[in-house]
Amino acid sequence: MKIAIIGAGYVGLAAGYTLSKFGHDVTIFERDKEAGGLASGFKPAYRRGKDKNWEWKLEKAYHHLFQNDTDILSLCKELGIENKLLLKRPLTAIYQNGTISQFDSPSALFSFHGLSFGAKLQTACLLAFLKINPFWKPLEKITAASLFQTIGGKESWRVLWEPLLLGKFGPYKDSVPASWLWARVFKRTPRLYYFKGGFSICVHTLVQAIKKQQSSILLSTQVDTIVQEKNKFRVSYGGRSDVFDTVILTIPSPIACTIVPDFPKFYKDNLLSIPHLHAQTLILETDEPILEKTYWLNISNRSFPFLAVVAHTNFMDKKYYGGKHITYIGNYLPPDHPYLKMTKEQLLKIFMPYIRRLNPSFQLSAVSCQLFTAPFAQPVHTLNYSQKAPQFSTPIPGIFIANLDSIVPWDRGTNYAVKLGKDVAEYLIKSK
Ligand SMILES: Cc1cc2nc3c(=O)[nH]c(=O)nc-3n(C[C@H](O)[C@H](O)[C@H](O)COP(=O)(O)OP(=O)(O)OC[C@H]3O[C@@H](n4cnc5c(N)ncnc54)[C@H](O)[C@@H]3O)c2cc1C
Repeated sequence: MKIAIIGAGYVGLAAGYTLSKFGHDVTIFERDKEAGGLASGFKPAYRRGKDKNWEWKLEKAYHHLFQNDTDILSLCKELGIENKLLLKRPLTAIYQNGTISQFDSPSALFSFHGLSFGAKLQTACLLAFLKINPFWKPLEKITAASLFQTIGGKESWRVLWEPLLLGKFGPYKDSVPASWLWARVFKRTPRLYYFKGGFSICVHTLVQAIKKQQSSILLSTQVDTIVQEKNKFRVSYGGRSDVFDTVILTIPSPIACTIVPDFPKFYKDNLLSIPHLHAQTLILETDEPILEKTYWLNISNRSFPFLAVVAHTNFMDKKYYGGKHITYIGNYLPPDHPYLKMTKEQLLKIFMPYIRRLNPSFQLSAVSCQLFTAPFAQPVHTLNYSQKAPQFSTPIPGIFIANLDSIVPWDRGTNYAVKLGKDVAEYLIKSK
């Protein structure tokens, strides 16, 4: 079968790898100049003088794997790159009331200053319930806000969780189902994996394996339209076109709706009713650390203009990044947010006073500052989301969809992207 896959993120690559393994003739189309999608990496341009070049690539958005991310870990084993995985236990903390407090274990919760003892007990009960309860379906019917307040208590909701959910989901904070929260807590492991060399190592190995199986990846090739032609599909890109027996869309749903004009209105309406946020990361490369020890800092003070600070070089050694400290400042933003139109210099100016509140002794010596925006990177789950999430088959037989929106109940992640890619490939093979 001649198959077109649109998008070379982890879903597209895993689907392409599986299908080409079964002997199908696969072409993967990728708009960007590199594969990897949301987990793709970069290195600053070659440097002369005192600034050393980076040895490793870095993801445009902070990335790590959990110990129970079994699908991607098995793929790494199959690809022979499990020896490229480093396992560490970096610190997670929360910024609240002017203090950074470790917040990643039961003992850290009980030594946390911002809550009364009763509120800590209630929070512990909620977290324990989410950690041991394997049944997420009933939790899809109630909101995270109501679960927090009934089991976790009103105090910890007001002090911790409400500001964090507001920071992540903005106007949608009260619609997010408890199953989303369950997935976050149930799945989390304190020890995390990262690739020696960055996630690009995994992407590069997958790309090589796909090519070895006689399939191709067309980079810097944006697909403009896909239209039906008899029992086949004409895929048009950059003034050229080619005909395929079947197509898999791994791109965000709003883009899928524009490039497949023949999708019926009811189908587009359902896909477009899923709200999405854009992810934005400002990456600072500095001589001094912004955070001393913490890897991941959640900001629960909503007067701050950002949600999370991720000090990558408190997870991986700074020697791989020219000896500089690498810190991500992260935000999830609705499509009309003014930050999405700003330059990195404008954002840094807004963020700087708040960075100094995290570390008053910090002097800015950012030798480099990079800004990345990932449109539609965070689908917002609403009540009973599993009924709304796109299934593999679409109303056009022969066109399949598997993207970030298809993942239920989990929040998106490369592990689920790998599973989704493999699953859609197997589904397609069975259905033909
Ligand atoms: C801020 C942030 C932090 C994250 N942290 C983690 C983490 O710590 N661990 C983890 O495992 N996951 C993390 N993720 C999630 C992870 O990156 C994604 O789940 C995964 O990479 C999604 O893969 P995908 O293939 O579904 O989509 P994508 O990676 O979005 O791939 C879709 C591809 O389609 C391409 N495309 C779009 N339109 C077209 C077109 N018209 N023609 C051709 N190509 C097109 C895009 O360029 C893109 O490469 C994070 C994501 C974000 C945004």
